[in-house]
Amino acid sequence: MPLGWYDLKVAAARPRAGDEAVKRKTLNAAFDVFVRIPLVAKALARTPCYNARMISVEEALERILARVGTLGEEQVPLTRALGRVLAHAVSSTLDLPPWPNSSMDGYALRGADATGASTKSPARLEIAGRIAAGHVADKPLTAGQAFRIFTGGPLPDGADSVIPQEEVTTEGTTLLVARPVKAGEFVRPRGEDMRAGESVLERGRLIGPAELGLLAALGHAQVRVVRKPRVGILSTGDEIVDLGGLLGPGQIPNSNTYSLTGQVIEAGGEPVPLGVAPDRLEEIEARFRWGLGCDLLISSAGVSVGEHDFVKAALEKLGAEQHLWLVNMRPGKPIAFATIPSTGKGALPVFALPGNPVSAMVTFELFVRPALRRLGGHARLQRPVVQARALAAIPNPGRRRGFLRVALTADESGGYGARLTGDQSSGILRSMVAADGLAVIPGDSTIAAGEMVPVILLREVR
Ligand code: AMP
Ligand code: MG
Repeated sequence: MPLGWYDLKVAAARPRAGDEAVKRKTLNAAFDVFVRIPLVAKALARTPCYNARMISVEEALERILARVGTLGEEQVPLTRALGRVLAHAVSSTLDLPPWPNSSMDGYALRGADATGASTKSPARLEIAGRIAAGHVADKPLTAGQAFRIFTGGPLPDGADSVIPQEEVTTEGTTLLVARPVKAGEFVRPRGEDMRAGESVLERGRLIGPAELGLLAALGHAQVRVVRKPRVGILSTGDEIVDLGGLLGPGQIPNSNTYSLTGQVIEAGGEPVPLGVAPDRLEEIEARFRWGLGCDLLISSAGVSVGEHDFVKAALEKLGAEQHLWLVNMRPGKPIAFATIPSTGKGALPVFALPGNPVSAMVTFELFVRPALRRLGGHARLQRPVVQARALAAIPNPGRRRGFLRVALTADESGGYGARLTGDQSSGILRSMVAADGLAVIPGDSTIAAGEMVPVILLREVR
C-alpha cells in the first residue's frame, strides 16, 4: 500500500523492532529528499507573485529601482527653490568677480613702487585718487601714486596690489609704505569665483542656501526643478482609529500614517492622505483608486497571508503587477512592491508595507525612500552610513541581517559610539523614537563592545 509522507512519519515514530525501525527511517529520509522537498519547492515556485528564495536588501532595491524613473520638471521662483532638486545643469554666464577688486580697506598701488621699502626708508607715494565699492576710478594710477580703496572697490588700471590701511601711515597727501608689496597682494582677481562658460551646478543637485546664492548671482530669478513626488498614504486595519476618533474595544490609534507622512516629507515628497481603510477588499481598493493620481502609493498593514489581509487582492483588482519578496532583513516581513499600469505616464509604484509601526518605518527607509528620491531626481538615493563603535554588545539573534535601532553619541575622537535603544521588536515605536540610526548586523552574530559597526544615519546626532 503506498504511503503518504505523513503516514511514513507516523509509522517512523512508532516504536518497532530494530531492523524495521531503521528501514522506516531510511525510507522516510529518502522520501523527504526525493519527493517531499522537490514537491514543496515546486508548489512554492508556482505560488503567484511569491519568490520563495530569500533575497538581499540590495537585490530587492535593485528590482524596485529598475521600475522607478524620475519625474518631470516645473519652474519655481528662486525663493521657493530651497530643498528642491535642480532639473538641469547650470553654467556661469559671467566672470565673477567681474573685475579685480580689493579684499581690504587700504591703498591700491604698484608693487614696483615699494621695492626695498622698510621702516627706515619707507616708499613715499602720492595719494591721488579714491575708490569706494560700487564706484570705478576716473583715471589710471601712474608710477609713484596710490589710490585710497575700500573692500570690493575695483582696482584702478595701473595698480597691481593693495596694502591694508593698518599697515601704512600718511603725511597729508603722502602715503608712507614701510615694507615691500608683492603684485597681487590683497587683490581678488577677475573670475576668481567662476568664469563665464564654466559648469557650476550639476543636474540632480539638492538646492541649499549656497546654491540659492550662486543661482541669484547668475541671474536665475526662476529655477527649473524636478517636480515633488506626490505620495498617497493609506493605513488599513479594522482595529485602526484615526486622530480624533474614540478607541473602542480592541482598537488602537493610527500611528503609521503620521510616521510615514514625516518620512515622505523628509525624503522630499508631498504626502497625500488616503485615510484609514477597514479590512475590506472594496474599501481598500476604493482608497487606492483615490490615490491613482499620485506618483507613488504606500499602504501599511493587511499585506500578510491572514484571512483579513486584502491589500494584495485590492492591488490585483487594480491590475497591478505585483512583486513580493522575502527579504533578508529584520525587522521585516515579506515586502510587497507593485506597479499599476496607467495611461499617460509611467506605471505607478505601490509599496504595501507591513503594519507594525517599526517594520513600516524601517521598510520605508530601506526601500521606499530610495525610490522616492529617484522619482524626485536626487543624485543621492541613500542615507549616509557611518562607522560607529559599539558601546555595549549588539546581538542579532536569528539568521536575518539586522537593521537594529541604535542611539549614537559623538565620542572624544570625533567618531560615533552606538548603543541599542532598547527592545527591538517591531511594535516598539519608542525605541525608534530614541534611534539616531540603524546598525546593520549580519545574521546570527553579535557585535562585541568596542567593535565597529556600520550605522545608517537617520538624523543628525544631537
Ligand atoms: P498587519 O500587518 O495587518 O498584520 O498588522 C501588524 C500590526 O501592526 C498589528 O498589530 C496592527 O494592529 C499594527 N498596525 C497596523 N496598522 C497600524 C497603524 N496604522 N498604526 C499603528 N499600528 C498599526
Ligand atoms: Mg491587520
